[in-house]
Amino acid sequence: MIARTILNVDDYAPGRYARTKVLTQAGFEVKEAGTGREALRLAMEWHPQLVVLDVNLPDINGLEVCQRLKENPLTSAIVVLHLTASKVLPDDMVRGLNSGADSYLSEPVEPGVLVATIRALLRARQAEEALRRSNDELQHFAYMVSHELNEPLRMITAYTQLLARKYAGHIDATADEYIEHTLKNANRLHGFVQDVLNFSRATAPERNFGNVSLESVLATALYELQLPVAESGAVITNDPMPAVFGNEMRLVRVFANLIGNAIKYRGAEAPRIHIGVEEHDDFWLFSFRDNGIGIERQYWDTIFQVFKRLHGKDVPGSGIGLALCKRVIENHGGTIWLESELGQGSTFFFTIPAGR
Ligand code: ADP
Repeated sequence: MIARTILNVDDYAPGRYARTKVLTQAGFEVKEAGTGREALRLAMEWHPQLVVLDVNLPDINGLEVCQRLKENPLTSAIVVLHLTASKVLPDDMVRGLNSGADSYLSEPVEPGVLVATIRALLRARQAEEALRRSNDELQHFAYMVSHELNEPLRMITAYTQLLARKYAGHIDATADEYIEHTLKNANRLHGFVQDVLNFSRATAPERNFGNVSLESVLATALYELQLPVAESGAVITNDPMPAVFGNEMRLVRVFANLIGNAIKYRGAEAPRIHIGVEEHDDFWLFSFRDNGIGIERQYWDTIFQVFKRLHGKDVPGSGIGLALCKRVIENHGGTIWLESELGQGSTFFFTIPAGR
């Protein structure tokens, strides 16, 4: 079995030695640090699974050490167990946990309690990692399947189109009907595979974030939607769009899905869509308002789940668009929700943190 590694951080040497002894006897591999700086260096170089972190350190305070460990993607997965002196106030505990610590113990700690707490924390982290790995695998699986299906499907659609162009009306009515069915279903499947592919791409863990102009995000989304906009006679207006910290390609998917839906789920009138922006203290609030068919209140949450659709085969779609929007917005540190009145229209809102 691989040894479980612990970084034991305390400026009080006798206490630190005693703790190392207890942990080593319990089967852990232990290294020691007497200062915050030393702790950060060892965490970066050695990557222990857990840090037992004394809060009162002479150089960098333990709370700040914890915060820095959690902010750094290279060390953020390390479990932090804060240890403090005997007279702890509830406020200190709150501050410790708010700095990102996974748990908190106050001295004196019974050796048995320390070891059992560490084992419990590592068990929880192991379960979390297993879940993350299986999630990543599933995501990769969905990507590979849709990627592999995409090309042959594109060929099937293209050849059926050729077949229709060359032979429709030249064989007989049944043949025309078969060609039409094949083409319709190939197009449907192609659309579905594209949606799954977009979903896997837009929700993969990669975080290529930067300064993104939402003016240009909107322009790209509208360029993609030229055809449905023209066909439906949609009138789309917008407030001036700010720049935000984010991923351009993923935000284009959000804009394209929300505007595309406002067109797809239109009522009897031509779609009128307004994209609004409000600046708040530390976030932007975006709204996509339409005059479409509306959504009953009981579905306001469920439609953000993958494959949840309220409309059948009459409207093309795979129920993936809003699930994608939710993942992307949450990855940007925001939230997404909607308000709607049946028969009147819907407004989808989302926030994105400002000033990052
Ligand atoms: P899809 O459009 O592929 O079905 P989505 O995840 O984008 O998938 O949307 C899920 C469901 O939510 C849609 O099937 C539709 O019933 C409903 N919906 C989404 N946007 C709107 C809207 N603007 N107006 C009315 N209904 C909508």
